[in-house]
Amino acid sequence: MRNRWIFTIILTIILSIQTPVTQTQIQPSIDLQGYTWDHTNITILIVPQNQHSWWNPSYLNATIHAINMWNNAILNFSSSYDSQFFYLSQIRMVYSISQTFEHGFDIYITWQEEHTDKNTIGTSQPLIQLPCVIINNTIILGTKTKTYVLNEVDMQNVVLHELGHALGLGHSNYANDIMYPKYSPKGNVTALSTLDLYGVAVVFEWLSRYPQMPNICPSKTSLVLPSYIRYEYLPIAYDDLPPQTSPSYKTAINFILDIFNSLYAILLLVILLVLLAIIIKKLQTNETTLKMIS
Ligand SMILES: [Zn+2]
Repeated sequence: MRNRWIFTIILTIILSIQTPVTQTQIQPSIDLQGYTWDHTNITILIVPQNQHSWWNPSYLNATIHAINMWNNAILNFSSSYDSQFFYLSQIRMVYSISQTFEHGFDIYITWQEEHTDKNTIGTSQPLIQLPCVIINNTIILGTKTKTYVLNEVDMQNVVLHELGHALGLGHSNYANDIMYPKYSPKGNVTALSTLDLYGVAVVFEWLSRYPQMPNICPSKTSLVLPSYIRYEYLPIAYDDLPPQTSPSYKTAINFILDIFNSLYAILLLVILLVLLAIIIKKLQTNETTLKMIS
């Protein structure tokens, strides 16, 4: 019966408004929680909070974009490095949206106006069956702290971080990595790194070695990248960027309007100059006429 024990642990991300500390000469590493899923099609139920005045509809877009980013990054990483991580291509997160909680999903995502834990903007709480299988995971996101309201970009970054926990990752020691435990508002979406993806590859290593034995636990350890993998960021699909950070149609239209406005101003100036030239010419003609009469 020991193996049937179930317990939970909460991992959090803290909002930090201070200027981020610059880190030089550190080797990026990431912790693993020591848990894994026993299947690869991971279902997510998103429960938006439309009924509340504090709800910002862009938080739903942010969440969907974050899920897509993880799916794309996993697929991208699985086909790199001589296909030794090809087993990762089996992993896919599939989301549904509902106004109410429903049983049977792997990951639940919902929001509170302000997170119950002070200064915390997101928590990830897995339910674990010993020795290490994740039964489900509940992600709770705050929309503000006492001094700051999260925008779409912030929310996308926080969801990316919490989904990393839901996939079995712990925190990174590297301030520029999405799995760093403190979040400072940045103004742009943070791409997932090769370190994050390598961490997921180790969490799901049972897929390549013991596909019938998902209870083979990943070590609860701190990982660094092997020498053949450089720390770098995976590409973000254009469609997964929030509108304010991508060259949107609105920006393109504004650009064209600016050109038309400039052309219009030049045309007005030309007309004024022509009119002025005509008036001067007319005055000169009148003067000549008067001289001839006298
Ligand atoms: Zn965290």
